[in-house]
Amino acid sequence: MANQKQRTLGIIGGMSWESTESYYRIINEGIKAELGGLHSADLLIHSVDFGPINTLQETGEWEELGAMMASSGTRLQAAGAQGLIIASNTMHKLFDDVEAATDLPIIHIADATIDAIKKQNLSKIALLGTQFTMTQDFYKQRLIDAGLQVLIPAEDERAEVHRIIKKELCVGQFKDSSRQYYVDVIRTLAEQGAEGVILGCTEIGLLISQVDSPIPVFDTTDIHAKAAVAFLLSQD
Ligand code: GLU
Repeated sequence: MANQKQRTLGIIGGMSWESTESYYRIINEGIKAELGGLHSADLLIHSVDFGPINTLQETGEWEELGAMMASSGTRLQAAGAQGLIIASNTMHKLFDDVEAATDLPIIHIADATIDAIKKQNLSKIALLGTQFTMTQDFYKQRLIDAGLQVLIPAEDERAEVHRIIKKELCVGQFKDSSRQYYVDVIRTLAEQGAEGVILGCTEIGLLISQVDSPIPVFDTTDIHAKAAVAFLLSQD
């Protein structure tokens, strides 16, 4: 195992950089655990400027965002990436744009999460994330198509879950009151029958962990980063 060669993975990150940092750490820890010694992950990271991207999300300019994501993918491919990940659930809305622009395999964050949920034989699952992720088909429908029943918070709760992501987590603020808010939302969804909860935003894992939740949590950052480790170490 110690002499095993790695592939090179490109990360489209910086959405926010707080979560890109988590990916970087988890992927390197995974490679170290697998290969030992001084081994670390063979990565190319394009850390984008999230400020203008967030504005374009808010104004609904997804076509421009798709072009930016595609450009990021092609730049990473030109730099030598053999596969890609997009370190944001929300930006998987533009997965097809990146896929069309490159010849590279892209590990879809929802697919990796679906695999983890199915391994635990759960079928009714709560979803927390940005408004886009919680309500739009690019993410929610993918879960439904995989046979899962998806529960999302009520409208006012969705607004607050989204606000906390953008105004606090993405700028590195982790407040006890917000943690408690998320726990209360998860508890309500559990009472409605959710058997587990997807932390469907790559910064939520910085606020909430399994010890906070009454039901199993599926931290998309952790799951996606571990799928990235498997990609780096696989040969096909
Ligand atoms: N990282 C977040 C996500 O996983 C939200 C920030 C963004 O809009 O990219 O959805």
